[in-house]
Amino acid sequence: MTTNPQQTPQRIPGVGLRTDYGGDLRADDIGREVSVCGWVARRREHGEHLAFVDLRDRTGLVQCVVDGAADLRSEYVVRITGVVRARPEGTTNPALASGEIEIGDCTVEVLNIAEPPPFPLEDKTGSGEPTVDEGIRLRHRYIDLRSERMQRNLRTRAKVNHALRNSMDSQEFVEIETPMLIASTPEGARDFVVPSRLSPGEFYALPQSPQLFKQLCMVGGLDRYFQIARCLRDEDLRADRQFEFMQLDLEASFVGQEDVLDFTSTAVAAAVEAVTGEQIGTIPRMTWHEARERFGSDKPDVRFGMELTELTELFLSTEFNAFKAGDGSRDFVVKGIRVPEGASFTRKQLDDLTDKAKRWGAKGLVWMRVEEGGTLNSPVAKFLSESELTSLVTTLEGETGDLLLLVADERPAACHVLGLLRLELGRSTVPADAGLHFLWVVDFPLFEDLGEDGSPIPAHHPFTMPHTADEHLLDTDDPRDLLQVRSQAYDLVLNGWELGSGSVRIHRSDLQGRMFELLGIGDEEQRTKFGFLLDAFRFGAPPHAGFAFGIDRLVALLVGEENIREVIAFPKTQSGADLLTGAPTPIEPRYLDELGLRLLPRSAD
Ligand code: ASP
Repeated sequence: MTTNPQQTPQRIPGVGLRTDYGGDLRADDIGREVSVCGWVARRREHGEHLAFVDLRDRTGLVQCVVDGAADLRSEYVVRITGVVRARPEGTTNPALASGEIEIGDCTVEVLNIAEPPPFPLEDKTGSGEPTVDEGIRLRHRYIDLRSERMQRNLRTRAKVNHALRNSMDSQEFVEIETPMLIASTPEGARDFVVPSRLSPGEFYALPQSPQLFKQLCMVGGLDRYFQIARCLRDEDLRADRQFEFMQLDLEASFVGQEDVLDFTSTAVAAAVEAVTGEQIGTIPRMTWHEARERFGSDKPDVRFGMELTELTELFLSTEFNAFKAGDGSRDFVVKGIRVPEGASFTRKQLDDLTDKAKRWGAKGLVWMRVEEGGTLNSPVAKFLSESELTSLVTTLEGETGDLLLLVADERPAACHVLGLLRLELGRSTVPADAGLHFLWVVDFPLFEDLGEDGSPIPAHHPFTMPHTADEHLLDTDDPRDLLQVRSQAYDLVLNGWELGSGSVRIHRSDLQGRMFELLGIGDEEQRTKFGFLLDAFRFGAPPHAGFAFGIDRLVALLVGEENIREVIAFPKTQSGADLLTGAPTPIEPRYLDELGLRLLPRSAD
């Protein structure tokens, strides 16, 4: 029996409209009279009057046996009151957590009617998830959020936030909110800007991170700061990147790298344990140098092998031009990877790989199929000596049926391209249950490269502390020495995704001055960009260090999603659009006037 939506449902004192969540009911509840609230997921007729109504709430589904449910439609909002009973023998549903029971003798109150949903929420294919175009899901996100997948993902996310907050609290960090309307942050991305109405023609930047504020908190004696911080960066969107994202941001005084690694590892371990119940143990470490040499990446996916092998020595006196080192003035290398059973790749597949390698910056790609008896089948085999071919197979441990891929180039390019080839060919071999592989990558270089004018390009922000042992190299006459300077910067990597980064900060003004000088940041630029921080640093900045990691990425990996959009309640599409609200949208001319802005006509393209 159903009542119509106009009637006000009776509240049950102390619990709102329901006594229980339907998906939580179990055999223990048999015999209880319960009221459950939610949406009609499905109705299946059962004889002339009776129908099975699956009611959905945030805990899942419960089956209700309803007499006279003819006017109940999908997604109607209902309260169902009845008695929990065991399902008749042979009709239990092991796929459903509440599958041993059903609610009988039901009274149904329709709390609201609903139009037919624009896409089915229930899985009709048996694959676990309905296959619906993501655009449609995002346009009607409020309906998509009712799906089991989104409910699970967002609740996991809440668990992670909660565990991180608790962990930081028990590590004596203080939660502090920093402002959203600020001047620029030096994270290297493009700022989102907000025009100021009170100062027309002037702009706030939205924070790329709370970096400078957390450092100010250290000068302010807060000692240990953390925040679950929203950060905004105007960068191209990808599977693991949105314009706005959340990070656990932390900073502590009178500590060094080891302490920060410990604080962060503890917080991450707490989050993982809260979700999986498992301990991650000590997170292994690797230097940036080793990561590049072995995996061709500063965020190595260590879940599979196919590591890079250095082969330069084998070709020191080769006749093959592409492998000749030249005059030795460059850091020229030959490196290779072994692709197990890759000899079966077709010529077309190999040509595609070569094209990719070139697109990624290699001059070319040498491939060799390992055949019976260890002989190599390759277009370049004829240019190599017998001993070169033999040592190649031995060094790469090639076996019959394998494919060997070689790149000869300057070290950074060779490592980079082989690293990408390794991912391209190896990632698909990682079993779904490979688990979580965290890794600390430490000792990042202070400078990424030298710019056109010979001045170094910082790998992190300009406040990153160099390694004490390498500090003297900052005074070198040869700019190339600068590329050898290691920094006290570190990244946390999970399954090949960069989860976050941090560093020990420079707190001494002499060293900071030297750094600005090296980076070509003159006095005026220093004042405009960081004047307030430099001022603060004159008043007793303690030694400090910090870290931040992306919560969206961590949650995505914990729930096995490949795209962080799946763990964000209201994400943007790849092109930056919010399909639900229509943002970004034009604004009315009078607002532009107030802000002192005039729009240029759009270019014709
Ligand atoms: N501010 C850095 C970031 O957001 C993290 C840090 O250095 O603490 O990536």
